[in-house]
Amino acid sequence: MGEVLAGIDVGGTKTQAIICTPDYRILRQGSVGTPAKEGGSSMVSAAIALVERLLEDTDASLRGVGVGAAGMVDPSKGMVTVASNSFRGWAGFPVTKVIADHFGVPCAIDNDVNAFVRGEVTTGDARGRSNVLAIMLGTGVGGALWMDDALFQGETGAAGEIGHISGFGNAPCTCGGHGHLETVASGNAIARRYSEISSACVGSARDVADLARGGNAHAKLIFEEAGRAIAQAMSMEAGLLDITTFVLGGGVCRSWDLLEESVRRELSVNPPLGNRHLDIFPCADNVAAVSIGAATLLAV
Ligand SMILES: [Zn+2]
Repeated sequence: MGEVLAGIDVGGTKTQAIICTPDYRILRQGSVGTPAKEGGSSMVSAAIALVERLLEDTDASLRGVGVGAAGMVDPSKGMVTVASNSFRGWAGFPVTKVIADHFGVPCAIDNDVNAFVRGEVTTGDARGRSNVLAIMLGTGVGGALWMDDALFQGETGAAGEIGHISGFGNAPCTCGGHGHLETVASGNAIARRYSEISSACVGSARDVADLARGGNAHAKLIFEEAGRAIAQAMSMEAGLLDITTFVLGGGVCRSWDLLEESVRRELSVNPPLGNRHLDIFPCADNVAAVSIGAATLLAV
């Protein structure tokens, strides 16, 4: 196998990892459940065991480990600084130190959406593109901005956080604001809005998607509205930053069949300045993209 890198994607329910060549060709991949309630030590131990399993029976020489993690991450401290309440004992846990000490190789960490955009410009649909906005339509809505061939962080590291721009109604947002894109386009929002409109409770956005595909008018409307809001947000970013490449990931993106028509319609009715064409790439496997992006952290 020669020299390899490991990329790990630590999500709220699953931890996924890849082993890849130094030019990011995936050799092995696997996943385990994330013990999110058992604390940082258990979570990192699970990730380490996964990487060790993927390296079993190989003569590979591990060169480094990259980690993409949900939440606010301080790469210089090697840890998550703010985690959602689905995790226990995760914020502040010295992730990179424990992994680096265990394997005796360098370890780096970044936010999962930042890792996603890195992965997409390295080996995904946006490969080689210099200016890209990544939108992660998951439980919430995350974003990351790739400009002039580098991650653009902004003044406080919050550049590209498209989920928290306003103008989309006035529902309360997880961040404390109101009417943010996340309140109409996230997985949680789609499930909540269906329950509000139809007075019937659903477990998740996936359930709403199943209903929409079965012809349920309320469910279809909610995806149409989410699609329109996503298009409006993309149009704003395109107008402001002259970005024309967008990569979409996250669980809601698996319902691209329900979003695409309204996204395209909105962009044709209200196109960005100059009627620029936007390339939109829904990513079917953003897990691999996050893991590859995490592995690229070792090269920077
Ligand atoms: Zn918000």
